[in-house]
Amino acid sequence: MARIAFIGLGNMGGPMAANLVKSGHEVLGFDLAAPVLKAAEASGVKPASHASQAVKDAEIVITMLPQGKHVLTAWTDILQTAAQDTLVIDCSTIDVESSRKAHEMAKAAGCPSLDAPVSGGTGGATAGTLTFMAGGSDEAFARAKPILEAMGKKIVHCGEAGAGQAAKICNNMILGISMIGVCEGFVLAEKLGLSHQALFDVASTSSGQCWAINTYCPVPGPVPTSPANNGYKPGFAAALMLKDLRLSQEAALASGASTPMGAEAAQLFALFEKQGNGGRDFSAIIEMFREKV
Ligand code: NAD
Repeated sequence: MARIAFIGLGNMGGPMAANLVKSGHEVLGFDLAAPVLKAAEASGVKPASHASQAVKDAEIVITMLPQGKHVLTAWTDILQTAAQDTLVIDCSTIDVESSRKAHEMAKAAGCPSLDAPVSGGTGGATAGTLTFMAGGSDEAFARAKPILEAMGKKIVHCGEAGAGQAAKICNNMILGISMIGVCEGFVLAEKLGLSHQALFDVASTSSGQCWAINTYCPVPGPVPTSPANNGYKPGFAAALMLKDLRLSQEAALASGASTPMGAEAAQLFALFEKQGNGGRDFSAIIEMFREKV
């Protein structure tokens, strides 16, 4: 069993660290927010007074933080204290550029590193069923895999440094665009007098099928487990979808990729958030289309 430092114990990091404890690992945790650290202590995480205290003597360090700037600040601290050859893994969703910079910092400090953002949300973090998308060397991935398996059910090595973040934002850009397409389909069906169930029965089994309709249908009824049946309680909050769409557009600009639908999706989710919907499930954007954008 490994000695693991876990930095950032919020909505995702807290349950992820708890699953590492359940698997028998020794987990030393740190979070800037005292109540968050206390909650983690209740699940068996040993609280540290500073990131460097958690990292000292750790074989593996995991960060789960809001944005690239937080990761770069935390990794600067971590890499000053971590022993050479400590494996450093970032599970946050951040911009590809910051992720690659973090990998370079780790390399300079003699530490193997991995970017390993997740999908599956807080439900997946609690259940230990997250999907990890990893970027880094084969050696770093091989060392990380058994640890990530304690927190997730699917672990994919996507390529070199930054490839995990790249996979995450490409996937979520596709999801944001496809959810908007599905919502528009249902709004048009309503205007044409076509029932939700009829459109679902046709589109979910023919060429319109995709995750946004088959698994996460944005109207109540056809898929009883989708957030539409639960007042659009997330699920996956619109603010997080907007964050990922913005990251995709930063990456598109930096790399010269043409993503006009991704740009449009980012604008529509920005408008939806501005209307006070950031905390609702992202599929609730269907309501905005009923009102005419
Ligand atoms: P969160 O805000 O609940 O938790 C982040 C934690 O990091 C906070 O408790 C904060 O106090 C702490 N923190 C910030 N800077 C720190 C530092 N320098 N040192 C120590 N602690 C620090 O956020 P979350 O929902 O857990 O999300 C974390 C990451 O996971 C984000 O990048 C997010 O995009 C990604 N993500 C979230 C979800 C989700 O459903 N919540 C799903 C997939 C991916």
